[in-house]
Amino acid sequence: MPVTRRQFLLRTAALAALGSVAPVARVGAQQFSDTPFALGIASGYPHEGGMTLWTRLAPRPLEGGGMPVAPVEVQWEVAADDGFRTIAARGKSIASGEWAHSVHVDVAGLQPARPYWYRFRAGSAVSPVGRTNTAPAPDARMQRLRVAFASCQQYEQGYFSAYRHMAREDLDLVVHLGDYIYESSWGRNLVRAHGSDQPLTLDEYRARHALYKSDEDLRAAHAAFPWIVTWDDHEVQNDYANERSQSLDPPDAFLLRRAAAYQAYYEHMPLPAWARPNGAHMRLHTTVAYGQLATFFVLDDRQYRSHQVCARPGRGGSTVVREELCPERVDPALTMLGRQQEQWLAESFGRTHGAWNLIAQQTLMAQAARRPGVGREYWTDGWDGYPRARERLLESVVRQRVRNPLVLSGDVHMSAIADLKIDFDAAKSPVVATEIAGPSITSQGPTIARVEALRQENPHIKFANGTSRGYATLDITPSRCVARLRTVGTVTQRESEIRTLTTYAVEDGRPGAHRA
Ligand code: FE
Ligand code: CA
Repeated sequence: MPVTRRQFLLRTAALAALGSVAPVARVGAQQFSDTPFALGIASGYPHEGGMTLWTRLAPRPLEGGGMPVAPVEVQWEVAADDGFRTIAARGKSIASGEWAHSVHVDVAGLQPARPYWYRFRAGSAVSPVGRTNTAPAPDARMQRLRVAFASCQQYEQGYFSAYRHMAREDLDLVVHLGDYIYESSWGRNLVRAHGSDQPLTLDEYRARHALYKSDEDLRAAHAAFPWIVTWDDHEVQNDYANERSQSLDPPDAFLLRRAAAYQAYYEHMPLPAWARPNGAHMRLHTTVAYGQLATFFVLDDRQYRSHQVCARPGRGGSTVVREELCPERVDPALTMLGRQQEQWLAESFGRTHGAWNLIAQQTLMAQAARRPGVGREYWTDGWDGYPRARERLLESVVRQRVRNPLVLSGDVHMSAIADLKIDFDAAKSPVVATEIAGPSITSQGPTIARVEALRQENPHIKFANGTSRGYATLDITPSRCVARLRTVGTVTQRESEIRTLTTYAVEDGRPGAHRA
């Protein structure tokens, strides 16, 4: 396409304006005494023509990054082979201090359904090589998709050795369901320390993300596969709901903290440019499709949700309530996703071509009544605090005839396999979807006694384990999905064996998992 004189003038004017703001350090002029790629590399959000590539330049990641204020040019390359003999795409990107010298490259123009390798270069420094892939075309009949999903990785409570094993699996995609960082210190038998108080500012959230990425096993899992991500509460603050903090900070002040946390999250994840936050707002919910085989619906149940009901006096956040003492719980006005996201989800359900439809979201969806027999109790931060919103979501699944709906969950530090029903208390209410809650990577979970009581009271929860840490894998083919709970022997040592705790399968057209 010929460039008109007017376009040419506009472009040169734009370049001149950019130049006048801050000079870009010349490539080659930038020398690093320590590698600027200490936080690793990552890719995410595969589509048929590309994916997003990520890195953040930080030669001294635990001391504020160690970069000069000026923007730096970063070169990137995508190759069809791991030796970089056939370059499929290359380009330049600007890493600016305003975004912690992070780089998010949305690559396009690649071939569908194949592996690619990528690397970055800044000055004389070259990054490690990452492996990623493109998704098949929307009409392609993919025969197999292998996925792992993870959540809840409290750094002080254990080493991320689960990720070392994940990196060695044969996978197409990793899904992270939140609590990627923890803002707070808690738990028993800690193996390492955050070394700082709760983050409040942008610099403090950046430092917390950098600390988590100092774990080489986490970096290895990012380098090995593309990821898609959502957050839960601890990326900002325990139990926050929309603009309300657990500590009932003035909403304006809390939104400043949320803006800092969201920006640091964006700066450290392989998120596409469309997710770049605007103040305290950041779009995270989206769909990712793998041909006709699988569609992922990535939800955000924190940013837009109603405040938890029946909070303790003078506090926000969750509590455990007796059913009959908190009638507000069943108010249909309560929302987990917010009206707009609920609407978007219903429309997205109507458009999906996936044989398997995976709802990637934060917390346990199955009803989990506590205190067997005596008068039931519910935890108000989970879906049990928003039961009408849960009904609306599952009714929407049924109404839109979503094929093979699978709900993927984290947050509760307990792996679980459950039947999802619109009315959990009616024996005749049909199973409409299958839930697979993965184990936490490290975060400590409920005791054996608590989990056993939960199972007794909630027969739709077929399997539950609160004591083993790890991740879950899904092996998806047109006829069935096999879910494996992969758990490590211990998180208190850097090295640990991996094993399969249990295996369940879901057959095409039949909601509900069975032991495989
Ligand atoms: Fe958690
Ligand atoms: Ca959580």
